[in-house]
Amino acid sequence: MVLGSGVYRIGSSVEFDWCAVGCLRELKNQEKKTIMVNYNPETVSTDYDMSDRLYFEEISFEVVMDIYKLEHPDGVILCMGGQLPNNIAMDLHRQQAIILGTSPDMIDNAENRFKFSRMLDRKGILQPRWKELTDLESAIDFCEEVGYPCLVRPSYVLSGAAMNVAFSNQELETYLKSASQVNKEHPVVISKYILDAKEIDVDVVASDGVILCMAVSEHVENAGVHSGDATLVTPPQDINNQTFEKINEIARVIAETLDVTGPFNMQLIAKDNELKVIECNVRVSRSFPFVSKTLDHDFVAMATKVILGIPVEPINVISGCGKVGVKVPQFSFSRLSGADVTLGVEMASTGEVACFGENRYEAYLKSLMSTGFRIPKKAILLSVGTFKHKMELLPSVRILHKLGYKLYASMGTGDFYTEHGVEVEGVQWTFDHIGDPDDARADGELMHLADFIARRELDLVINLPMRGGARRVSSFSTHGYRTRRLAVDYAVPLVTDVKCAKLLVKAMLRCGGAPPMKTHTDCMTSRNIIKLPGFIDVHVHVREPGATYKEDFASCTAAALAGGVTMICAMPNTNPPVIDRASYDYVSTLARVSARCDYALFVGASTTNCELAAELAPQAAALKMYLNETFTTLKLDDMTIWQKHLQNWPKKIPICAHAEREKTGAIILMASLIDRPIHICHVARKEEISIIRAAKERGLKVTCEVCPQHLFLCTDDIDRIGKGRAEVRPVLCSAEDQAELWKNMDIIDIFATDHAPHSVEEKDSEKPPPGYPGLETILPLLLNAVHQGRLTMDDLINKFHKNPRKIFNLPEQSNTYVEVDMDYEWTIPQALEFSKSKWTPFAGMRVCGAIHRVTLRGEIAYVEGQVLVPPGFGQNVRDWPMPKKQLLTGTEKVEKETSRPNSSLDVHSSLDLSRLSDLDIDQVDPIKVENKLNVHFNEGPGLRSVSPLPPQTTIRQRCDSSSYPQTVTSQRQRSDLFGKSILTVDTFGKETLNDIFNLAQFMKTSVNKGRVLDDILRGKVMASIFYEVSTRTSGSFAAAMQRLGGSVIHTDATSSSAKKGETLEDSVTVMTSYADVVVLRHPEPGAVARASRHCRKPIINAGDGVGEHPTQALLDVFTIREEIGTVNGLTITMVGDLKNGRTVHSLARLLTLYQVQLQYVSPPGLGMPKHIMEYVAYKGIPQRVFERIEDVLGDTHVLYMTRIQRERFVSVEEYEKTRGLLVVTPQLMTKARRRMIVMHPLPRVDEISPEFDSDPRAAYFRQAEYGMYVRMALLAMVSGVNPLI
Ligand SMILES: [Zn+2]
Repeated sequence: MVLGSGVYRIGSSVEFDWCAVGCLRELKNQEKKTIMVNYNPETVSTDYDMSDRLYFEEISFEVVMDIYKLEHPDGVILCMGGQLPNNIAMDLHRQQAIILGTSPDMIDNAENRFKFSRMLDRKGILQPRWKELTDLESAIDFCEEVGYPCLVRPSYVLSGAAMNVAFSNQELETYLKSASQVNKEHPVVISKYILDAKEIDVDVVASDGVILCMAVSEHVENAGVHSGDATLVTPPQDINNQTFEKINEIARVIAETLDVTGPFNMQLIAKDNELKVIECNVRVSRSFPFVSKTLDHDFVAMATKVILGIPVEPINVISGCGKVGVKVPQFSFSRLSGADVTLGVEMASTGEVACFGENRYEAYLKSLMSTGFRIPKKAILLSVGTFKHKMELLPSVRILHKLGYKLYASMGTGDFYTEHGVEVEGVQWTFDHIGDPDDARADGELMHLADFIARRELDLVINLPMRGGARRVSSFSTHGYRTRRLAVDYAVPLVTDVKCAKLLVKAMLRCGGAPPMKTHTDCMTSRNIIKLPGFIDVHVHVREPGATYKEDFASCTAAALAGGVTMICAMPNTNPPVIDRASYDYVSTLARVSARCDYALFVGASTTNCELAAELAPQAAALKMYLNETFTTLKLDDMTIWQKHLQNWPKKIPICAHAEREKTGAIILMASLIDRPIHICHVARKEEISIIRAAKERGLKVTCEVCPQHLFLCTDDIDRIGKGRAEVRPVLCSAEDQAELWKNMDIIDIFATDHAPHSVEEKDSEKPPPGYPGLETILPLLLNAVHQGRLTMDDLINKFHKNPRKIFNLPEQSNTYVEVDMDYEWTIPQALEFSKSKWTPFAGMRVCGAIHRVTLRGEIAYVEGQVLVPPGFGQNVRDWPMPKKQLLTGTEKVEKETSRPNSSLDVHSSLDLSRLSDLDIDQVDPIKVENKLNVHFNEGPGLRSVSPLPPQTTIRQRCDSSSYPQTVTSQRQRSDLFGKSILTVDTFGKETLNDIFNLAQFMKTSVNKGRVLDDILRGKVMASIFYEVSTRTSGSFAAAMQRLGGSVIHTDATSSSAKKGETLEDSVTVMTSYADVVVLRHPEPGAVARASRHCRKPIINAGDGVGEHPTQALLDVFTIREEIGTVNGLTITMVGDLKNGRTVHSLARLLTLYQVQLQYVSPPGLGMPKHIMEYVAYKGIPQRVFERIEDVLGDTHVLYMTRIQRERFVSVEEYEKTRGLLVVTPQLMTKARRRMIVMHPLPRVDEISPEFDSDPRAAYFRQAEYGMYVRMALLAMVSGVNPLI
């Protein structure tokens, strides 16, 4: 059952529909039946067929619960519909409705600003300072303490309604007096307002607290503009690495602490590299559709899978897919006559437009134009309020002037820019000078502004109000207001934010007019395009240095990119060959300035460089040994030289051998004799593949590669190609050899081109050199084989991406992928575009499958026939640092079943294809691969090898271990309750209380998550001595002890030696000699304290007569704290027999530690005892006495009911009379607040009607459960264990 967003309004609109519908669609993909509850017309008019059942109903607790009871769904998904469903999360949860995704307790921990704030403090995450205040005086005190400006908003409001920013005491006072009444009933939250900061939106999907994907969007405007009105950019363009890391860390901690399963959104504020958390919502946000489309990753589909418990592999999409998205707001000011056009903390936009571009300038202009903005042609009016903004805008004004615009400005602004040497013409207003004391000038002879705008002689108005971006109290009489209004009324484009103005000017400069349509950012395709990882060709002859007329780094790597190859390993047989440090450095320099794709360089084995070569090993792709005659000067005839190389070259870096015919067996044998791996290049013949199979079957460390010419050409093709051109080493073999290669596909580890270009003239000459170009044709040929069913897509990816990486220890290229059109049929032409060799042996072959686009490290490197990256973009991957672990999660995943989530480009891909994220490279279990492919991988931790994971690791375990066991085993520390008895609440300070409650909350979370806590008190014994029967209390203590792994011995009055006349002290002393902690209950006040004096072990008072019951009082306060979030500021009403109720005595005393108001309602003669009231008064806590619940219900946050015993009344009539007034019924509770709780220490007699039990405000059964957590915390702390410290 999916809950939608409800009616459309500002702040909650179609973006949430998109999420809810996306969720339904994914549920349908997972073959789930769906129920949708929503009540906006779109749901019926356009999305009526998205769910199996649609309820057009209000989204309220009662209605949703009714539907839930009727439909019996597997669960409810709340997180797709915005704030409305989140608001009823706790209510549904408390009525035992199954909520899918993040636990409602955790939703509450994020939504409740007290709980959330405590959590951030605990985790050391910064937040702007804030406080909830109920009177003007303390509000002023707070603002003066933190410094103005301050953001003021009523408590419990959504989407910024009725917020404001105060810059002075006077403004604060005006606002508090006019906009809302401030009192206990309507508190305001005031927070420090940070000026000139950057706001950042973070959207995340997590599973069991581990982040799976994350998007970061930055606001263009300075912080203070509501995120719904802000201009958003993703991937972020201005965030530095340091900030990025901090964002990652904060997101990681929050995801883990809230144990998020599904989506969440955070808003951060960044200033001076310091990040503060403003807000966190455990649900989708307004920006989910935007980031999903821009980053080409469906966050909602992924979140839905996670919520269903389907394992999903993490994916790093933060830096996007080569395009930038900018989202701008769309306002309706032109429809709202008279409204001022400034933005503030309240949301005002009624729509939004997002566009893509190659950069943010393009995207911003397109987005603006989509909202009706026109790029100015000739004249621009400037009106800039503050000196600071005038200065900030100065460079932009200069640019506008250079671009040839005629600039007009209001007088002050005009003077300023003229003084700074920009030609600006001043313009006077003609309308009345009212309310603007700064402007006492009379009308001049200059053209009148109103006429000017009316005659549309202005194309753009840049008007920056005095306090732009922060406040919304508008004076409707200023020139600024008039100007803005005129612009809107005459439909002249208007910019009111300094950052937007700067971005706009830069964009106009960079784009020089309307941005052109670009197919790769602006068009989606219906072609069957799938994403594959960037391919790696480990056998490429670049010919530079030595024969650059055949090929050089620039042309070769262009050909590579055009062929979907993003990394090449360049062969050493250049001129000079790469055989020592000097030649390596030389070629390395050439490559650095010319290569367009990434690369590594081979070192060649010569007869003399056995030692020298080995020194280069860490920088080398591998060592190449030429054992047969071919186009090289590096041929090795002497087998003793082979042996020296095999011995000297480090085992963890590969050796590749050109070893045909009998040399294949010889080199494999020699390598195996000294137990080192060997890689055989371009296997071509039956005899070669047979011996490799035999070697692999015997477990020898051999890998091999095959080239397209031997897979797709044979001696039969020589006539067609031409005898000279067909020269290649190894030569083209017979059709039988060729068939043998295909038959042994399972033992072929790698596809490589052996791209060996020679010019057409050379190939057609008398002595044609051997070799074919191949980079541009290999992928189409292989895709064609996939199309024909001769290869699987897995074969292609394994042999052309995964295995090259594994065998050569090549690092991952982040954000690198190839998009191929699977259905495009074409004939390979006589020559391909980019290689200098200008011929191909594959000319005339018909293939299906073409490369559409190649993205290399986030840049579009090739698209439809054009190579876009310049020479020098390519990097030597051996210069890269060791592969870092995944930034997002800090740990790696093992599951590889799970798919790369859907993207618009993946729609046609099969399930198999959807596994192709290059992330799972590192997760392949090497043993499994080895068995399957019989590939040998380098042993031990190689220089750049990726260490394999222990195969058993799962997300769940990791999630647990990160937050719990480590603290238990290594950081156990004693709390200040260690070894102490707990006799009375008076001994607790605020700090100790917080420790107890935080630990109790930890216990609660752990128990709810099903974590085992039984090593906390394992081996410890608790003695439970009850001289008075209380199964409930003793049960709660026993359960607490057992959950912590301890055991319980129990004694009660009947079995104890007390019967035989033993004193209490003696009984306790005997029991303590058996136990580590004693829980004692006794009917006599003071008895427990007496017993404790003789006892060396801690005693916990479980109640002594009408004296104390400290653990009950603790659990009561803990209940309030958990249910409402805070105790401070609450009005607590105690009802019933307050005279004899021991629990309310302890509770009242304990509550004096907080800022509360106490109210008492009791029958005559059963009021709160005088000594308690005096104590409370002495502590300065206001208290009032009433006779009827009804009189106090409206103000009450906590209604604490206690039992009334009939026998305490003088007469039955008196009892009956009182009873009616002191019973909680659903009818009575209609007069209570929506957000309050009813508590009762239980057992109840008839103080609370059972009909009220199903009300979410009924907290009394939960109260009993909280008792166990508090007792767990106490037992752990007196035993000296606090896992949180
Ligand atoms: Zn070669």
